[in-house]
Amino acid sequence: MAKTVSDPHACTLDKIISLCKRRGFVYQASEIYGGQAGAWDYGPLGVEFKRNIQNAWWHYMVQRHDDVVGLDSAIFQHHKTWEASGHVAHFSDPMIDCTECKARFRADQLIEDYVDAHPETNPGKPVDTMTHEEMKAFIDANINCPTCGSKERKYTAVREFNLMFKTFQGPVADEAQLIYLRPETCQGIFTDFKNIVQSNRMKIPFGVAQVGKSFRNEIIFKNFIFRTCEFEQMEMEYFCKPGTDDEIFEKWRKERWEFYKKYGIAEKNLQWHHHDKLAHYAKDAYDVQYNFPIGFEEIEGIHNRTDFDLSQHTKTSGKDMDYMDQDDGNKKYTPYVIETSAGLNRNFLAFLCEAYEEQNVGTDGKEDYRTVLHLHPKLAPITVAVLPLMKKDGLAEKAMEVKDALTEEFVTDYDQSGTVGKRYRRQDEVGTPFCVTVDYDTITEGSENFGTVTVRDRDTMEQQRVKISELSGFIHNAISNWKPVVR
Ligand code: ATP
Repeated sequence: MAKTVSDPHACTLDKIISLCKRRGFVYQASEIYGGQAGAWDYGPLGVEFKRNIQNAWWHYMVQRHDDVVGLDSAIFQHHKTWEASGHVAHFSDPMIDCTECKARFRADQLIEDYVDAHPETNPGKPVDTMTHEEMKAFIDANINCPTCGSKERKYTAVREFNLMFKTFQGPVADEAQLIYLRPETCQGIFTDFKNIVQSNRMKIPFGVAQVGKSFRNEIIFKNFIFRTCEFEQMEMEYFCKPGTDDEIFEKWRKERWEFYKKYGIAEKNLQWHHHDKLAHYAKDAYDVQYNFPIGFEEIEGIHNRTDFDLSQHTKTSGKDMDYMDQDDGNKKYTPYVIETSAGLNRNFLAFLCEAYEEQNVGTDGKEDYRTVLHLHPKLAPITVAVLPLMKKDGLAEKAMEVKDALTEEFVTDYDQSGTVGKRYRRQDEVGTPFCVTVDYDTITEGSENFGTVTVRDRDTMEQQRVKISELSGFIHNAISNWKPVVR
């Protein structure tokens, strides 16, 4: 639901987009050619931040669980994979065109946006349960074209539009060479199910996780990196015995909720959305939604996919995908699957929005705002910035030495230009949790603070003197004990 914001210092999507561009998190792809719709490039800080989110997810989902293993399957899978999974027949969105200006819309979103703005107009049922005819009737009765504004409401019928990109492998464009860019990463996990069971002697219940690119020919792109044609998913498929699936579904729902809390998202900014209308494969489904500046929107889906995918691959490939349960008298069954499917790019945006603050740090009643990202130190693109108080008198050399030692363990930055205050602000804006300053005491033999540096905490702005010999331990400790700022 769209939000109205009156506080000039509140986080807005425009401010996030501008920060991302200014500080090298995200740029529009092919900007010099006017931009490529629905495509974004991740800059020097963005790539670090994105990788940190991915690593945090991998650690949380794979390395912390003895019963979850990883996979990196190919983007190109045999085209029958997508026939089996139901994507060729069902993976589509309802679209509608304005016949006057030719603008194209997703019919369901057009209605949702309209109802958000006009809560008094109620289509009488959840949008995802409306038929094409019901959607068309509602749009015709209520919605002027958002692009040309025409009150004539000359729309086409609502039609389904398949979201898969397709092409042909090799020089001959015939059906046998047909290839799809995968619209979700998980099908590679299903087609490799038997390989994983056999090669790694996996016993049910167990999970397989992977992170990778997915592609969807979205009808419209909206809200920066929220909805794009090319994006990354962090997915885990947990295979279990039929009948145990409801309990395991609840377990993973809890775990995924805790992940977002652990990495700094306040619970008040998270909510569950239960699906009224289920996808063709699902028995139950919930979305985790985050309170973006544009309102609560999905960042992750948790689905009970039943035995749908493995059964379909058995039927289509002719290969038996059943599991023989040696712990249950060699009983054979098709495992059920609980899926957790998070968008890496939407996580990126959610963690950024959550961390963003324009904080008044003025004293004596004067206003002085700093922009700060209160990112979890394990997600922040830079962990430690080392700053010499001055460039001269050997301070720069000493600061470089301190930085080089820290670089072995942390992502570091070195900055010697401008006042220390300005340098702190620059680091605050990109979420660097620790700034280490080398001053004259650091290098003056006989000084009480010889061999120490100051460490400034991004969130509290407090400074503490720490011995250089204890610096690495101090930072590790501070990372382990970090708590989100309550706002
Ligand atoms: P939506 O309803 O927003 O289109 P979805 O329900 O189709 O999303 P899933 O198929 O459940 O999404 O995919 C799992 C996750 O992948 C989503 O929660 C989201 O974070 C991410 N995702 C899906 N489509 C896109 C996209 N076009 N751009 C960026 N991320 C996406």
